[in-house]
Amino acid sequence: MATPSATSHALVLGASMAGLLTARVLSKHFAQVTIVERDVVPDQPEARKGQPQTRHLHGLLASGLEIMTRYYPDLPDALAAGGALVIDMTANMCWYTYGGYRRRFTMGRKGALMSRPFLEHLIRQRTLARDNVTLLDSCAIRGLVTGDDRRRITGVRVEHRDAQSLAATLTADLVVDCTGRGSQTPQWLLALGYPAPPQSEVKVNVGYATRLYRRDPADPRGQDWLLYTPEAPGERRFGGMFPIEGERWIVSLGGWTGDHAPTDEQGFLEYARSLPMPEIYALISQAEPLSDIIPHKFPASLRRHYERLTRFPEGYLVLGDAVCSFNPTYGQGMTSAAMQAAALDELLTLRMGRLDGLARAFFKRAAQVIDTPWQLAVGEDFRFPDTTGPKPAGVDLLNRYVAAVHRATLVDPVVGAAFIRVMNLLAPPLSLMSPAMLLRVLRGASQRRAPAVARGVERGVPS
Ligand SMILES: Cc1cc2nc3c(=O)[nH]c(=O)nc-3n(C[C@H](O)[C@H](O)[C@H](O)COP(=O)(O)OP(=O)(O)OC[C@H]3O[C@@H](n4cnc5c(N)ncnc54)[C@H](O)[C@@H]3O)c2cc1C
Repeated sequence: MATPSATSHALVLGASMAGLLTARVLSKHFAQVTIVERDVVPDQPEARKGQPQTRHLHGLLASGLEIMTRYYPDLPDALAAGGALVIDMTANMCWYTYGGYRRRFTMGRKGALMSRPFLEHLIRQRTLARDNVTLLDSCAIRGLVTGDDRRRITGVRVEHRDAQSLAATLTADLVVDCTGRGSQTPQWLLALGYPAPPQSEVKVNVGYATRLYRRDPADPRGQDWLLYTPEAPGERRFGGMFPIEGERWIVSLGGWTGDHAPTDEQGFLEYARSLPMPEIYALISQAEPLSDIIPHKFPASLRRHYERLTRFPEGYLVLGDAVCSFNPTYGQGMTSAAMQAAALDELLTLRMGRLDGLARAFFKRAAQVIDTPWQLAVGEDFRFPDTTGPKPAGVDLLNRYVAAVHRATLVDPVVGAAFIRVMNLLAPPLSLMSPAMLLRVLRGASQRRAPAVARGVERGVPS
């Protein structure tokens, strides 16, 4: 069967961010969509066992929020109504790096700061409110099912994790693997006689330690997001403190190449105090903690190159962290998943739902979507000499220029705006290299650094 009909069925494996966005997109093109998830999925904003990263600092880039709003038009209002900050990310920015604060300005493009479980809860509610989307939770995928000739995936084998651990087969016209970084697709492909995708792995040995604190809504700093990122390779630590719903702060401290924050009270505070930016320590040493300090290790960015495979079964796709999981310090994962889901939507619309040959076309588009965030993340990571893995050609030279960009953002809001657009995946990295920008970068980088206090906001979108 090549074209979805009135009885067509799609299966989405995994009910986290990529799975929910994919199900939303597929609900336009298929009669029925079933999401299958191993965990019990709560009907409230809560982290689950299968997605431990959701307890840590998560920001939603402007491009990610814009794509999600296309599919869930009331999302910004619902976020704000629940106490999240839907804000012009640059006006509320207090970002210290390269010895100073990036200049603030208004950009006119909004991102969102909230706990990740709250964002996911809103996305899940809206996805499951679609008439043709069903969630089957507490149900683990055990393998793929094919026809006799193994050309097409026709479904999955599942095990219900109830008392009887019932095994069953679910059939579908299209199956999309959104089971995250630990996806078993490479092994499942090998078992069916297909090659596994080549992998790029860039080892960064990043560690997070995260704690929630009470936020005083009357504090004038309570609407700012605070971030310290290192001038690599001499500095290796980072700190992020975002205001989130429930009048709380979420604070993640950590570092590259094994320089991780301790998870005991005193060690955590000392680590915060060691950052060149004083505000995070000043705030958390006074604020009331609301949680334990939770660690998370991220060994390596991992990209599976499905676009390079010449043999792949029909009726099957892979999307989200299952294709590419980035060093999280750049905040790109959810936006990358949203961009991939939107690319799938466009492709299905263009092909009027025709499924034959979909995988090749989709993986080509997904690779284009992933190329930019991968290049940005991996490029920065190779500032650290301990980073290992496939190093892009010319990255050391490029990094010297990007260091100049970072320095120029401390004094020139036009460079700052160009940088923030690239970082938010709103503009291509090449936009930082026009002759006019090059001049500003070189001039800005050679100027005296901004004083060590956050500045007022400059109104208007610098261009
Ligand atoms: C510390 C940290 C901080 C981050 N910060 C940000 C940020 O600021 N901004 C941002 O955009 N991104 C951030 N990310 C990345 C973001 O969390 C991921 O990109 C995003 O969650 C991708 O979601 P996913 O749905 O692809 O995978 P996952 O969230 O990993 O979800 C996979 C799902 O599949 C289910 N599953 C797995 N195996 C099976 C199976 N066999 N059967 C059934 N179900 C299964 C799991 O239970 C889970 O629900 C961060 C990541 C980390 C680690």
